[in-house]
Amino acid sequence: MNLCYPFVNTHLPYAYNALEPYIDEKTMELHHDRHLQAYIDNLNTLMEENPQYQHWSLDKILMNNSCLPPTLQTPFKNNAGGVYNHRFFFESMTDHKDMSPGPCLSSLISRSFQSLDNFKSCFKKTALDVFGSGYTWLVLCRDGLAITWSANQDTPLSQGQCPVLNLDVWEHAYYLKHYNRRADYIEDWFHLIDWHRAEQRLECCF
Ligand code: MN
Repeated sequence: MNLCYPFVNTHLPYAYNALEPYIDEKTMELHHDRHLQAYIDNLNTLMEENPQYQHWSLDKILMNNSCLPPTLQTPFKNNAGGVYNHRFFFESMTDHKDMSPGPCLSSLISRSFQSLDNFKSCFKKTALDVFGSGYTWLVLCRDGLAITWSANQDTPLSQGQCPVLNLDVWEHAYYLKHYNRRADYIEDWFHLIDWHRAEQRLECCF
């Protein structure tokens, strides 16, 4: 996702209703067309006001945030993070439901979590523990796979971790269908994981 200004809201890789019954059409439409669009618009405005950064990619803005002037660090982090995290999240899901992890991920999941079921249970616990708004991540670190979380629109990129999957646990991601039941949303999301995409991302980490 090495994209530069001007940022555009690309289409989802599936129809708005393709993730039913686990995530409903209206949620996907609002999430993509309103929430992600707002981060894209804000990021483009920031770039228009600070043209010296227009050649910076999304990854560069996030990985080199501390190189920006102090007054620009937070708005760039929030809006570039909002774009990066949402695209990553939407592309972590597929309408080919109930896929299984590929060979490389299967072996790393066994090594780091013993089993796929235990991975899901650890991931769910972390996702439930995110207080307020944020994301849960599966990342590759030096020691293997790990589950982490980030607040607001922070990303693991600045921590030197290589992200493989993320789950948006902001309430706008599930409130229309699941109301306040984040646990049900997490369980539903497990059916939608694009394990093929995750395997491709993992290969890019090495
Ligand atoms: Mn979101």
